[in-house]
Amino acid sequence: MQMLNSINNLKVASHFKLSEFACPCCNLVMLHPKLLAKLGELRNVLERPVYITSGYRCFRYNQKVGGVANSYHCIGLAADIKVKDINLISLLEICENIDFTGIGFYEKKNFLHLDVRPTRRTRWRE
Ligand SMILES: [Zn+2]
Ligand SMILES: [Zn+2]
Repeated sequence: MQMLNSINNLKVASHFKLSEFACPCCNLVMLHPKLLAKLGELRNVLERPVYITSGYRCFRYNQKVGGVANSYHCIGLAADIKVKDINLISLLEICENIDFTGIGFYEKKNFLHLDVRPTRRTRWRE
C-alpha cells in the first residue's frame, strides 16, 4: 500500500525523520525528545550525517536481535549510530561531551549505542 511507504516519513528535527527511528519489523516508533535533542546536538557538532542503525525496537524485534530484556531501545530512549569518516574513539569523545547517560562502545561492529536513561551514567565496551 502506497500510504504505508510514507508512514513516519516526517521531519522531527532539521536532520532527522521519525522513520529513521522506527522499528524495522513493524514501523512502530517511540522517540523521547531528549534523545532527539542530544542527537541533534551531535549532528551539529559533527557537521555531517548521523546514521541511526537502530532506534526504537518493539519487544519482539528486540528479542530477535538479541537485545537485553529491559533495553532502552524498547522505550524510545536509545539509538545506535554510525558516522562516516570519523574514528570511533573521536566520536566517543564528542558523545561524552554531549553527556548521554548511557554509552556503549562497539569496536568490532563500529557503532555507538547512545541513550538518555534517567538513572546513573553507564558506560560499556564490546
Ligand atoms: Zn517491530
Ligand atoms: Zn543500542
